[in-house]
Amino acid sequence: MTPNNHNLPLASSPYVNARRLVKVYRTPAGEFTALKGIDLQVNRGEFVAVIGKSGSGKSTLINMITGIDRPTSGEVYVGGDPLHTYNEEQMAGWRGRHMGVVFQFFQLLPTLTLVENVMLPMDINRLYNPTERRERAMQLLETVGMSAQANKLPAAVSGGQQQRVAIARSLANDPGLIIADEPTGNLDSRTAESIFNLFIRLAAEGKTIIMVTHDEARAARTDRSVMIADGEVVNEHVVHALAALNYDQLAEVQRRVNPTVFTPGSAIVRQGEPGEHFYILTDGRAEVFVEHPDGHEVLVDRLAAGQYFGEMALISRRPRQATVRAAIDSPAAVAALDRETFDGLVADSPSLRDELQGIIGLRQLQSQVDALDDVDREELRRLTTGAPVRTFVPGDTILRQGALGDTFFFILEGEAEVYVTRADGRETLIDRLTTGRHFGELALMGDRRRTATVRAAGKGEMKALELDQAAFEQLQRSSHHFAADVRDTAAERRTRL
Ligand code: ADP
Ligand code: MG
Repeated sequence: MTPNNHNLPLASSPYVNARRLVKVYRTPAGEFTALKGIDLQVNRGEFVAVIGKSGSGKSTLINMITGIDRPTSGEVYVGGDPLHTYNEEQMAGWRGRHMGVVFQFFQLLPTLTLVENVMLPMDINRLYNPTERRERAMQLLETVGMSAQANKLPAAVSGGQQQRVAIARSLANDPGLIIADEPTGNLDSRTAESIFNLFIRLAAEGKTIIMVTHDEARAARTDRSVMIADGEVVNEHVVHALAALNYDQLAEVQRRVNPTVFTPGSAIVRQGEPGEHFYILTDGRAEVFVEHPDGHEVLVDRLAAGQYFGEMALISRRPRQATVRAAIDSPAAVAALDRETFDGLVADSPSLRDELQGIIGLRQLQSQVDALDDVDREELRRLTTGAPVRTFVPGDTILRQGALGDTFFFILEGEAEVYVTRADGRETLIDRLTTGRHFGELALMGDRRRTATVRAAGKGEMKALELDQAAFEQLQRSSHHFAADVRDTAAERRTRL
């Protein structure tokens, strides 16, 4: 596995420490600020992906670290060395000893053979003794699977092979830090995969790697991704929480988001108040409380960085159903999005919409269904992922007596009525079900014929989560309360049928 040092004590500073980096390009059209005060910390042995859409500032950031270009202001330390203070010559000398750089375009010298290209950094930096250089270059070519072609010119091998050689060259000075700007961006997908695997291997051997990549799936295989949007780093917890969004949408979030810190124990949203914002927790912890009609508050959930809240009131356009407070022993930092931005994102992103619907169903299930209070929340999440939440209006028939059925329902909002049609054709009301109750499970315990008709009732919409037989059985195994509740309800229902 890749060694990583996430748990180093705070006192030991990161290996790469870029602070408040600003880069202003002066162009004939005026000044353009490509980096707006970026902080980037990378620990020794970490493999970090830099992601973001084209033009967001990724290469500019990378060039500040390699010293290929200079920040307008800000600092870059690597291993404690202040690179931002070095002149060209000092920088070239430092790079030669400590850093390997790989670009999207391979940049091998066309008149040198492949092995000579790999020897070049050792020659320039006078590393190793001259006789050792060729041997070492051959070993590096071996590492990247190119030793058989060592004496060919770059033009005689494919793009993927040239990139392998470029990686071998970047390793020639045995650097602690490898910086790569879209090293697979110019390769077909199979070659890109094999080059990426080479970086994974180098990371596993302990190299620190910072790699710009367009490929989200590959970025996910590194230790950590840092997303850049409009010259700023998008908070990693925001990226994580809104993984359903694409780069453009995340850039929009970055432009609109409002960071706020709440002191320990203070309320971020209050039950009963109208909802105007959506929140992502970016640091600390928060706790969710539901106040019952008799006035006592129950803790229903704990949230950690990367989780969000406040979406229910925005989606349902009803008052907050819960109070969320910063945990009593720690402040909570949140990124808040206004209703308009949130609505726009939900409208534009079917995957965010689906995810929110699932989360809302799960939260309602947890807060409304007493019979499930002994189920582990992760388990509940697994069992309900992808299960549909159905919406009915009063009078809608949800189940029809005699029909076949293989699902059952939890009422998340509203009410339902249960009717039985007797042999003489008369329909009788036998039960009223309120929020938190379930129905439809009798058919799952018998011959799959519905034993009664269930209709939405009451005044407003009725919402119910529909689950299948497998979820029904698993829930009975996971929850003593639910299993007992099912037994009791079934016994009682049968006496009334
Ligand atoms: P990325 O690598 O994420 O695609 P870049 O860092 O190359 O983005 O560019 C960020 C922004 O800075 C872009 O809008 C780009 O046009 C601008 N930019 C980059 N280099 C220069 C330059 N030398 N002069 C002026 N503008 C530049
Ligand atoms: Mg770039």
